Amino acid sequence: MSSNKVLSVLPIVFITLFLSGCAKVPVVNLFLAGNKDVVYKDTKTCLPFRLKRILNHTSRKFGKVTVTSTKREVSENRRKGGARNSYHLRCQAADFSVQGKRKKVLKFLKNHGSVGGYSGYTHHYHIDTGPRRTW
Ligand SMILES: [Zn+2]
Repeated sequence: MSSNKVLSVLPIVFITLFLSGCAKVPVVNLFLAGNKDVVYKDTKTCLPFRLKRILNHTSRKFGKVTVTSTKREVSENRRKGGARNSYHLRCQAADFSVQGKRKKVLKFLKNHGSVGGYSGYTHHYHIDTGPRRTW
């Protein structure tokens, strides 16, 4: 398909999505992969799309999400008491805080199909891309 043809089809795709009522959130997520309700206080670029999506979904359900830790150097990880083989060392984990009842947030993470490991701490939650487990 030529680029002109692609351009002429795009408005139809958008109108169809809009009329089907699912345009607002999914299309924005699809093209921007961002969400103003997810604030990153640590590097965002290396974080896998899978974890960004979970954070977006979490903010849609519970409100503003603040991501406090993604990638850690070995020394930083040691200082923060991370596991020796922590997924943070490879930027495959995110720590975040969010309002909402702890029980409900943990249940949401447990039921989210993309979450690997997850855990709730005193002031934050942890998710990663590892095998499904909790501690
Ligand atoms: Zn963590």
